Amino acid sequence: MKILKINHLGIAVQSIEQGRKFWSDVLGLEFAGAETVEEQKVTTAFFPVGESEVELLESTAADGPVAKFIEKKGEGFQHVAFQVENIAEALEELKEKGIKLIDETPRIGAGGAKIAFLHPKATGGILVELCERG
Ligand code: ZN
Repeated sequence: MKILKINHLGIAVQSIEQGRKFWSDVLGLEFAGAETVEEQKVTTAFFPVGESEVELLESTAADGPVAKFIEKKGEGFQHVAFQVENIAEALEELKEKGIKLIDETPRIGAGGAKIAFLHPKATGGILVELCERG
């Protein structure tokens, strides 16, 4: 597997509107737009930082994965996303290595990227996302 860079850091927030006050108003990061991914019950907002981005995640439903995360752990750092050259190949390699995956096959995330999550039990407690941009 070839990891190209950290694509983004995912940060769970109660409210993107509130979260923007720190990331945009205080740190001066440009708000590059928001997008709702219905399947994941989440709205994501992106703030480019050099070649990577900060992604704020706000749940659209009380039973969504981000709402559950905040319920358990509170707001804050939720996942790191590595951009890979070929996500299908990367997932095959991880399966061969016996790594527990949340997504056995890639699905479509924000911005039309192919994404897949690794299980935190297999990574030392960090939720790791792989993504491939077309
Ligand atoms: Zn992400």
